[in-house]
Amino acid sequence: MLPFKLIYDHRYDLNLGAHVFPSQKYRLIHDQLLAEGIASPEDFLAPQPATDADILSVHSQEYFYKLKTGNLSYEEKLRMEVPYSKELIVACWLAAGGSILAGRRALEDGWGANIGGGFHHAYPDHGEGFCVIHDVAVAIRRLQFDGVIETAMIIDTDVHHGNGTAAIFGGDATVFTLSIHQENNYPYPKPPSTIDINLPDGVGDDDYLAILEKHVHQAFHDFSPQILFYVGGADPYREDQLGGLALTMEGLARRDAIVFDYARRHKVPVAITLAGGYARRVSDTVRIHINTILAARDAAPERKSETTAV
Ligand SMILES: [Zn+2]
Repeated sequence: MLPFKLIYDHRYDLNLGAHVFPSQKYRLIHDQLLAEGIASPEDFLAPQPATDADILSVHSQEYFYKLKTGNLSYEEKLRMEVPYSKELIVACWLAAGGSILAGRRALEDGWGANIGGGFHHAYPDHGEGFCVIHDVAVAIRRLQFDGVIETAMIIDTDVHHGNGTAAIFGGDATVFTLSIHQENNYPYPKPPSTIDINLPDGVGDDDYLAILEKHVHQAFHDFSPQILFYVGGADPYREDQLGGLALTMEGLARRDAIVFDYARRHKVPVAITLAGGYARRVSDTVRIHINTILAARDAAPERKSETTAV
């Protein structure tokens, strides 16, 4: 049993078949967590879909109606890079609801993890790069609207820059954004995050971890968030098909541990989302995401609500 809740819905899997975006990974992670005894069925919570008002707190009305009605142009569909379907919209609303729930549980339990989400390329007025709805932004806006947080930090370790995140929160002093990514890779352009760490091609474990730690230290020195949303991409892995960094699985696990250790020491609740992962073997992507959950387990003290609820 885990000291925090995992948020999951089987409808996260879009059944895209041979698509480079392995949406079956959500189901595989869920099944593997159970099969290995890392999690038990009661560790999982099912999300409610985000409300339309939640979606509209981040996305434009025009884009929202296009998504609802399927009235996207050919170019808009191409840019999204995932086939439009009713199931896609259900999955996106659920993923956003999942990140809201992960955030709420993090505030209650100290930690929460959405076995999905991290769609950091979605902009207010369009989707791109497999990202339709910016679930983390929707979650932060909902928690702010509910008055349970004022400030948030996003640490994004996906190999691709968090362009949607930067566009949404640029100029918003309540949300601090850090993106560590490969500079010579999608997306272009890269609007500025609060901290952008632009890495050259081929960076390996030691250099990556040293530069990450330095900037995470700086982030927590500069800003005291009431919640951390972690966008933990599996694609800085050296076997990734869409990434050009050279981290090992061990390096990726240490990466997660560095971020979680800073959050724990600063007593900041952590909501985890998964983001990208395109390893040649889907099982590697699944393992890297599971390792993120294990790193959170190692960093998390026992669940607060259970120790006090008796
Ligand atoms: Zn990515």
